[in-house]
Amino acid sequence: MAESKPAKTPQVASAGKTRAEQGPSPAVMPNYARQDIVFERGEGSWLIATDGGRYLDFGSGVAVNALGHAHPALIAALTEQAHKVWHTSNLYRVGGQERLAERLVEATFADRVFFCNSGAEACEGAIKTARRYQFVSGHPERTEIITFQGSFHGRTLATLAAAGNTKYLEGFAPDMPGFVNLPTGDRAAVEAAIGPNTAAIMIEPVQGEGGVRSIPAEDLRWLREICDQHGLLLVLDEVQTGMGRTGKLFAHEWAGITPDVMAVAKGIGGGFPLGAVLATEAAAKGMTAGTHGSTFGGNPLAMAVANAVLDIMLAPGFMEDVQAKASRLRQELARVKDEFPDLVLDIRGMGLLTGVRLKPPVGDVGKACMAEKLLTVGAGENVLRLLPPLNVTDAELSEATARLSKALRNVAKASA
Ligand SMILES: *Cc1c(COP(=O)(O)O)cnc(C)c1O
Repeated sequence: MAESKPAKTPQVASAGKTRAEQGPSPAVMPNYARQDIVFERGEGSWLIATDGGRYLDFGSGVAVNALGHAHPALIAALTEQAHKVWHTSNLYRVGGQERLAERLVEATFADRVFFCNSGAEACEGAIKTARRYQFVSGHPERTEIITFQGSFHGRTLATLAAAGNTKYLEGFAPDMPGFVNLPTGDRAAVEAAIGPNTAAIMIEPVQGEGGVRSIPAEDLRWLREICDQHGLLLVLDEVQTGMGRTGKLFAHEWAGITPDVMAVAKGIGGGFPLGAVLATEAAAKGMTAGTHGSTFGGNPLAMAVANAVLDIMLAPGFMEDVQAKASRLRQELARVKDEFPDLVLDIRGMGLLTGVRLKPPVGDVGKACMAEKLLTVGAGENVLRLLPPLNVTDAELSEATARLSKALRNVAKASA
């Protein structure tokens, strides 16, 4: 690799065009299949592109902007903190972390919280917490984690191995060992996989990227029981399902169970990068000083925003409101399904984590929605995800379903 660097492609004269108008830059690594659009501003459930187009955002940056764009309380929290201090590292106490952790502990099963910056990091932290628990419990041999097909836990080497998606693993060998990937809903397979080296079972209560596939509550309860029987930890990945997305603060509340360890990210920062590992006191007992860390994790800016997110989500009536919005969206989508029985196979999901399983390729329907200025997100099993902000209005829900209907009509016309 010692060749001299070839001359770079000369930049085309920009002729007074803005960077956005010049089209996608090859300087950005091409690892995403991006839409050719740049958004420069957001207002609640709306995103405004550089050409002035107003888009109804039912993707929410993949379930991240849980309170929409430019929420005044989040802007106030972030700017107020920005004038004080941005970053100190975890060499010192961080006031916002202590406050946020105590509030999360108060609101959930957890006794201990670790802060990081993303979902994959939260899943890694959860995996480390589970292994470390077994290690300090006198079971250093218990390192294996049982995971499930169709999962998504992130793009780091360990989380890729955990999910076992061959498409995402290709070219990144060797795959990290220590995971046993099983089909969902197969209790016999889980029982057969549990052995002397098993440490934990890790699962998403609703597989988001996998196609908005809900794990039945009785299966989650069974996994809880089997973990208790065998001394395993139940690790839930609530990166996508958490922070009110399903109409409860966390999706496992619907099943009436609690995990030992949980990964959280996406909505918790309302758009500011933040992840967290929540654990019971027992499950966290191995995570003593020096065992794990993050330079940025839980920095004062992230903490200020996340505390403001919690102010809103923990206010009385907020989750009931999300549930009401969700059932309204569900009814509207049922009408869309009735209108297009040949195109819409089923409506699935929990709360405002909604999936529309389609007959035509989801990419085509996503593009048709984009043409109607409705932003959606694709998922596995040919499912179109609708992930509006949790504070979406009823009028916006109706507008989105009207745009989806129009998009489906156009798809039907194009294939007729
Ligand atoms: C998005 C997601 C992740 C990964 O989060 P990143 O912030 O992209 O690392 C992990 N698990 C689930 C369930 C997710 O939806």
